[in-house]
Amino acid sequence: MAKDKKVLTGNQGIAQGFYEAGGKVAASYPGSPTVEILDTLSSYQGVYSEFSTNEKVALEVAIGGSFAGVRSMAVMKHVGVNIAADPLMTFTQTKTLGGFVLVSGDDPGLASSQNEQDNRFFGKFANMGVLDPADSQESLDYTKQAFEISEELQGPMMLRITSRLCHGRSIVNVGERKEVAPKETIADSDDSYCMIPPASKEAQFFMKERLDRLKSYAYDTNLNKLEENGSDTLIITSGLMYNILKEVNPHVDVWKLGLVYPINEEKAKEITANYNKVIVIEEMMPFIEEQLKLMGIECEGKKYFSFTGELDYGHIAKGLKEAGILDVVNELDSTTTDTVERPPLFCSGCPHRPVFDILKKSKTKMVIGDIGCYSMGMQHPFEQSQSIISMGACMGIVKGMSKAFAMQEKQEPLVALIGDGTFFHSGIPGLINQLHQQGDKENITIVVLDNRTTAMTGGQPNASSGLYTKKDDMKVSINELAQSIGFDRVKELDQYDYDETKKIFKEELAHQGLSIIVANGPCALKFKMNNPHYYVDPSICIGCRSCIKTNCPPLKMKEYEGIEKKKSFIDKDMCVGCSICAQVCPVNAIKQSGEEAKGGA
Ligand code: SF4
Ligand code: SF4
Repeated sequence: MAKDKKVLTGNQGIAQGFYEAGGKVAASYPGSPTVEILDTLSSYQGVYSEFSTNEKVALEVAIGGSFAGVRSMAVMKHVGVNIAADPLMTFTQTKTLGGFVLVSGDDPGLASSQNEQDNRFFGKFANMGVLDPADSQESLDYTKQAFEISEELQGPMMLRITSRLCHGRSIVNVGERKEVAPKETIADSDDSYCMIPPASKEAQFFMKERLDRLKSYAYDTNLNKLEENGSDTLIITSGLMYNILKEVNPHVDVWKLGLVYPINEEKAKEITANYNKVIVIEEMMPFIEEQLKLMGIECEGKKYFSFTGELDYGHIAKGLKEAGILDVVNELDSTTTDTVERPPLFCSGCPHRPVFDILKKSKTKMVIGDIGCYSMGMQHPFEQSQSIISMGACMGIVKGMSKAFAMQEKQEPLVALIGDGTFFHSGIPGLINQLHQQGDKENITIVVLDNRTTAMTGGQPNASSGLYTKKDDMKVSINELAQSIGFDRVKELDQYDYDETKKIFKEELAHQGLSIIVANGPCALKFKMNNPHYYVDPSICIGCRSCIKTNCPPLKMKEYEGIEKKKSFIDKDMCVGCSICAQVCPVNAIKQSGEEAKGGA
């Protein structure tokens, strides 16, 4: 087989592995850290890939591929598996046909997630084998091997990866695609895929027997490697932790697990019996440690290593010193550069900014936010979001709060704030539920911020993207959808029309009952907003800072020559010309470039 060397990220390694394995159907919902897998796959020939409406649908699309007999893969971030859990827990009971791999991107340290969730436990919970690659080469190799195991055992496999592996790069030997003949699809006489009794009861026994076969496979799989160094201490580790351990280089024996679930008990006992001390190094929860302890194997792990965050060179070296494995902790020879701290900001010209500015000025006390780039609205200077829990959760939360407030005779206006991607992902069932036992004492305003893309993860298309671009093929109107469900008070507005937006918000926040505002404005980044820039005429500016409060990055106060008081200033290279600052200026000191020629300032 022809081999070529490339520098790939872990994500790209998985995409390449899927391609080389002859994979045909891949589906995902965009979520950091795994977005790049499907982004990469979209350029491969012979592969169908899609960003689905949510992770449950993505999993179902991939299950469909497997049921049709072809190798299929579902990709999601760790919390996405919660969304997909319903079909997953039943699918793992059934036999797969085409090989099936679920990629779960975990996020130790919560770099861009609402929680830190160790999905190795999800794999165990769902009775799946779990593979944990250590670098981009293993990401590629393990993906291929996961398909082999899946087809041999007729069961789905999980490839559990972490953020640093997803985005880190290493040299990879890439090969060629091997076309795999499709398996027979579900036979029309076969009801073993219909998970109702008695087939579902029988499936429990099949699942147990399959897991036993996987345990036997784990006895001498090439995925697990023992490195002997003549020491009386054994370190058991997996994934990226192995590479960091190699840097620390404590001169002990290492059992590197590639298959972290299940671990073969007989093998684990055989190996660990030769050592005085066994230490487990793993990020987040004590997954391997608990499996070993359940087998009666004495070991230590979380005693020395944090239960949260990423474990780096320093953490591992310090833990090993505490465990008596290292005498001294050698500092890494690294140089650091001081950088200026900058909180996350909405982009220049972001359509969400006027909404948050208006909400702040409205002094609304209870804004229940949701997951998306608009969650930045909870930060200074807007500070608009009392709660952010999970995708689509704002819909149910405001409903429950309004019922509880009504029982206490509290008249608190409630706002649910959700983006279009999240709305399509899992906001719709909660929206429909709003119509259930609607009360006349409630004051709920649902705001859907429709910027026509999944902006937080880099601008992947969603169900309404097609309204702006021909390339994207779904054109769902949130306004029409809400009305068709039965909502009679739906208002649509252009978020860049500040006065109109302010007027409608004022009306709807005061309205007793349930109303929906669909606030439209294209994502300035995805749809490349680039209008002529705005500038401040310092001779008119009174320095009131109203424009500064909109928090657009190009705006700042500065001293102009010959003018005593600080006046506002716009960095023209950053301004995309959305006009919001000009609309809030009480004295018309902000003008668009080009107006001078027409007799402007
Ligand atoms: S017009 Fe004003 S608010 Fe819009 S991008 Fe430029 S500086 Fe920002
Ligand atoms: S809103 Fe207008 S007057 Fe106030 S600081 Fe900005 S440019 Fe100056």
